[in-house]
Order: sequence, then C-alpha cells, then structure tokens
Amino acid sequence: RGGLRSMENQHLKRRSLLAGVTALAAAAALPRAARAAMATPFSFDLEPPLVDRAEFVEWMVKNRGEDRAFLEQRYDRLQAMVERQDVWDDAVKRAFMLTPREAFVQKINRSHSYDHNFLDIGYGVTISGPHLVGRMTNSLDLKLGDKVLEIGTGSGYQSAVLAHLTDKVWSIEIIKPLAERTRGTYAQLIDAGYDEFKAVQTKSDDGYYGWEEFAPFDKIIVTCGIDHVPPPLLKQLTPNGVMLVPVGPPGAQRVLKIVKGIEADGSTRIARTDIYNGRIVPFVPFRKLDGDRISGTHNG
Ligand code: SAH
Repeated sequence: RGGLRSMENQHLKRRSLLAGVTALAAAAALPRAARAAMATPFSFDLEPPLVDRAEFVEWMVKNRGEDRAFLEQRYDRLQAMVERQDVWDDAVKRAFMLTPREAFVQKINRSHSYDHNFLDIGYGVTISGPHLVGRMTNSLDLKLGDKVLEIGTGSGYQSAVLAHLTDKVWSIEIIKPLAERTRGTYAQLIDAGYDEFKAVQTKSDDGYYGWEEFAPFDKIIVTCGIDHVPPPLLKQLTPNGVMLVPVGPPGAQRVLKIVKGIEADGSTRIARTDIYNGRIVPFVPFRKLDGDRISGTHNG
C-alpha cells in the first residue's frame, strides 16, 4: 500500500505542477497511479511471463506500471488457485494475472485483494473470491471472439477478467448506483491505459431477461444465485453455448455448467455438470425488479 500511495502522490505532484490542479484526482487513486507508467497498450498478444515470480513482477512493473506488492500477491494467489484446480488453462492464468483485482475492491479492503475470500463491496453485495472467479471463468471455455454475457456486474472484476479472454463482453447489474459506480471504475481504468476494458458494455437492469439486443451469446455467466435456470438466458445462448449458473435454495447453490446441445432433429438437449462436484457455494441472491424498485427474488 505504501508503494501505491507514493506513486499516487508523485502523480498528483506532477499534475499540480503541470496544470495547477489540486487534489481533485485523489479519489481515482489506483488507476491514476498506473497511468504514468502504462508503457504497453493492451493486446491479446501481451504475454506476461508466468513461470517466475520476480520475472512476472518486473515485466508487469515495466509494461503495466502496477504496484509490486499487489503483483506479488497476485502471483502467489495464482499458484494456490492452480494447486486447488480452480484454474488450469494458460489463457485463464494469463487473464487472472493481467487483471488488477485491487482496483475493484473497496479501498478499505485493498490489502485483502488477493485473499482466498469474497469481500464486501457495499449495497449488501460482495465481490466473489478469486478461486470462484477462476473456476467459473475457466469452466466457460471462452475463446477470443466469443460473445459473453454476465449477470451481476457487481464490482466489475469478473467482467474485467473476461475482457482478457475475449473482446465482446456484456454485463448487467440490477443495483443502479452500483452499476454506475462500476462504470466509473472502468472509465478510470480506461483513462489509465487499460484499453481492454473498452470491450465491456454494461447496463443497469434485471438480468433475468438477458440482453436481447445483443443476443445470442456464446457464453453466459451468472454470478447471483437462483433456484432455477432462467429460461430467457437459455434462449439467448447459441447452439453449443455454455452457461455457468449457481442454482439452489437461498444461500446454498451448486454451480452448474450447462451446455446447450442441439440434436440431429434440431431439438435442444441440455447437459448439466456441477463444477464443484456437489459442493455447496453460497451466492448473493438473484433479485428482481418491480418497476424501478428491487423487490424480492426470482426464486419460484
Ligand atoms: N460478478 C460480481 C459479483 C457480484 S455479486 C463481481 O465480480 O464483483 C452478484 C451481483 O449480482 C450483485 O451485484 C447483485 O446486485 C447482482 N444481481 C442480483 N440480482 C440481479 C439481477 N436480477 N440482474 C442483474 N444483477 C443482479
């Protein structure tokens, strides 16, 4: 955190010298700090070295201008995730390693950014733990060019990881002020040089009905828990598309991977697997809108 603060201070000093502005930008701490040193714009060819911790950190400091302490924690978290089999594809490892989770947690929780845990993000909801994001993301089998829809933007971290795997990401959040705050986070990060987040389109709405305008989607990831698979989402999935969705009673979901198969006669055949082999994982509830108000859940 010391490193972050001193980068931020340096940057502020430079700004006030140049433009005579005051501490206006202070709220934008992390992204502004990174801007000064974002030497290499994002591309899908960007390959940070993942085998050696020190090499990874040096590469990231040089190319992305991020904070060493966070980079070390990010590296260590990945090793633990690989060991627990929460991440197995190189592309997903790379996506995790390029995503500054510290920019998506609340300031007060920054030192816990890479804990094996979910964290409070306000509005009564949470950012999922890195292990869960890792396992769900890897289970999606995303390919560059896939269209992916997320239900439950929350902090924006999950869609940020997705944006390192494909350039077509849509995400819906039901809590309007949270959706707006996260839009602001993305704006700051884009401003700081994180071009990959330009690919993330967001809106505030009830995600139960998907996003008809941009359907169909190759992949759908639901990050709030519900007791059934929303039919509109299934409908907006392409043939052979994959959906990850936590299904079960309140606070006790199983994370299902659903593949929408098409039979020779053209009928749909749904294959389900449980990515945690039956283990219960609690999710934030899948709420519903009553006019402009959030009221109740979509549980049947
Ligand atoms: N993917 C998020 C996790 C946030 S928790 C992240 O990376 O931080 C789940 C989110 O789903 C919450 O923000 C909650 O407000 C949202 N949510 C709940 N019901 C929803 C609905 N019907 N449509 C869209 N989002 C919903």
